[in-house]
Amino acid sequence: MENCIFCKIAAGEIPSQKVYEDENMIAFKDINPQAKVHVLVVPKSHFATLADMNADQAELVKQCFVNIPHIAESLGLTNGYRLIVNQGQDAGQTVHHLHIHILGGQPMGEKML
Ligand code: 5GP
Ligand code: ZN
Repeated sequence: MENCIFCKIAAGEIPSQKVYEDENMIAFKDINPQAKVHVLVVPKSHFATLADMNADQAELVKQCFVNIPHIAESLGLTNGYRLIVNQGQDAGQTVHHLHIHILGGQPMGEKML
């Protein structure tokens, strides 16, 4: 997808601080961290939200969730972490390529959920 920042990061066209990569997904540090540890897990296939996802992309999302505990462990998140997947405008989604936020490295404090 042209002009998608996460497609460009996935293709290596824009640098990122990668913490995990395989043929289907990439995980890298958020440029504007909201916690001591803030990593984005991104399937390499472009789609904006779960509502836009096809069956193959659903498999990639599954792989992301299967890998997240291993990525979290590699990041030292032994005491838990929070996952956030913003979907669309009311959620404040700013990058329209599906991504899962991993937030942790500290107690997450007062919370919405
Ligand atoms: P959203 O609000 O769409 O759920 O989250 C998008 C996230 O992407 C934000 O937390 C933002 O800081 C992060 N982000 C936006 N552009 C870049 C970038 O070029 N590199 C990295 N590493 N993170 C980015
Ligand atoms: Zn994209």
